[in-house]
Amino acid sequence: MKNAQIRYSILPSKPEAHLFEVRCTVDNPDPWGQKFSLPTWIPGSYLVREFAKHVVRIRAQSGRKQIAIVKLDKNTWQVAPHDGPVTVTMEVYAWDLSVRGAHLDTTHAFFNGPAVFLRVDGREHEPVDVEILAPRGAKYRSWRVATAMQTKGARMYGFGTYQAGDYDELLDHPVEIGAFDLVSFKAAGVQHDVAVTGRHRTDMRRLARDLKKLCETQIEFFGKPAPVDRYVFLVTAVGDGYGGLEHRASTSLICSRNDLPAESMDKPAGGYRTFLGLASHEYFHTWNVKRIKPAAFTPYDLDRENYTTLLWAFEGFTSYYDDLLLVRAGLATRNTYLETLGRNITSLQRVAGRKKQTAAESSFDAWIKYYRSDENTPNAGVSYYLKGSLIALCLDLLIRAQTGGRRSLDHVMRALWKRYGQKGVGVPEDGIEQVAEQVTGLKLKRFFDQAVRSTTDLPLQKLLAIVGVDMHQRPARSGADRRDPRSKKEKLASKGVSLGVRSGSDGGDLKINQVFDGGAAQKAGLAAGDIVIAIDGLRVSPDNIDAHLGRYRAGETIPFHVFRRDELHLLPLTLQAAKVDAWTLNVVEEFREGARLRKGWLGVE
Ligand SMILES: [Zn+2]
Repeated sequence: MKNAQIRYSILPSKPEAHLFEVRCTVDNPDPWGQKFSLPTWIPGSYLVREFAKHVVRIRAQSGRKQIAIVKLDKNTWQVAPHDGPVTVTMEVYAWDLSVRGAHLDTTHAFFNGPAVFLRVDGREHEPVDVEILAPRGAKYRSWRVATAMQTKGARMYGFGTYQAGDYDELLDHPVEIGAFDLVSFKAAGVQHDVAVTGRHRTDMRRLARDLKKLCETQIEFFGKPAPVDRYVFLVTAVGDGYGGLEHRASTSLICSRNDLPAESMDKPAGGYRTFLGLASHEYFHTWNVKRIKPAAFTPYDLDRENYTTLLWAFEGFTSYYDDLLLVRAGLATRNTYLETLGRNITSLQRVAGRKKQTAAESSFDAWIKYYRSDENTPNAGVSYYLKGSLIALCLDLLIRAQTGGRRSLDHVMRALWKRYGQKGVGVPEDGIEQVAEQVTGLKLKRFFDQAVRSTTDLPLQKLLAIVGVDMHQRPARSGADRRDPRSKKEKLASKGVSLGVRSGSDGGDLKINQVFDGGAAQKAGLAAGDIVIAIDGLRVSPDNIDAHLGRYRAGETIPFHVFRRDELHLLPLTLQAAKVDAWTLNVVEEFREGARLRKGWLGVE
């Protein structure tokens, strides 16, 4: 096999110091001084992260001769003019245990391309070789490699040489190295691997069986064949964590080890459903955003923010189908799905920001708002995941209702796949709306204007009624209450009074994290960061506040003692009645036409 003219090597050189040594050799660089750069962001996570900040040292050589390398801006370097090949060697600090960066210690190594691989400017379209090297030392002898990158001499799961068709592909294959557990299955004839890192006691066979159902359902959904030759789930199990990032033939997931299925488990626990929802979300992205992608991402500009107003569709529609396809795959019941939907509706209806920011604006500003949320986020903005998923629900139900169930959002997704995804053409900003109208024959402009480009509430109640689902409100039992009333876990604590805050614990003290618009706390002058020490002259804590407030009625004014910047303040607060803003969904079984449409929607009545 011929060597590529651009070759990388990566070595976990000092796991105990969290350092990778990464080399990039170019056989025939620009003789006037080749430029190299690192991406400022990683596709799928819309925040400028400045990966170059973790470069500890960098040097360049040609043959044995050191040559000068200078930094031109925050993420670009240039070597001095010279003849012959060049090798740039970097030491990269890796201590970010997330799905977006790189992490290395004596227990494992994980990296995403944007954190470690330099771009050879002007040569982005050439194929590259990557040598993945084993760390030195006996204690690493059991380590192996999990990645969807194609091997070139390396054995499956082994160290050695891998390859990518271009720089974009190189960035899109995260790599896990360590003593992970591995299970494989076939879905629609395609090999799928699941590598689980971290201490865990997972029923790997169960995991493979359920993921197989999920993957097959999704491949059927878009139509065979699968868009990949092989797919890898890289799962990192931790004490408490949740996150995922999509790639073209793999995904990185972080989850709580207790959310993975245990051998002792008869019925899947709620946490396992959360994990399956996450896996379902990232797998759906294999089509929706990795292949059906905004024109604004075709190609990605890795030096700066890439703006699109369409994340409500790429993240929102993916969030809609992640849960829905669990029901169709037989991995969740109709009632648990409706419970989840009720919780999502409650979450959206509760944020005042939904009246200030549209789904299109939320998408466009992801870089500075969604990914940089703060204490004022619920008052100022709306999540394009959450609102986008409910836009998808409304659109799906609207199409089903107006075509008597002959068409649905499923048809729109398949048409987007055929027209854009399979052809590798970017979706223009109005492309989704156009395809939706063409596929269904319906006039949908008014719907999209309202749902996407206005802050008018979505017609959820009306549309759910068509599939025989009744949506009704009840008062929340506490600030955290988004649950179904049948849930026994919920404490009936504050009996109808509300402060209008989200609070938490700060070293055992009650701390205000967010103050909601128009609520009792905002009117009284409480602010995010305040430590509440006493209410009505009695000491309060995160544990007793609900019981304490349960003894008062709406309209009563009581003194709050709070510390702000270590200064004690006394603030009289007038309690408000808890809003009737928790939503519950119930099926109206006797409505037969609803049952028929519901079956087309959920796959079950
Ligand atoms: Zn996503």
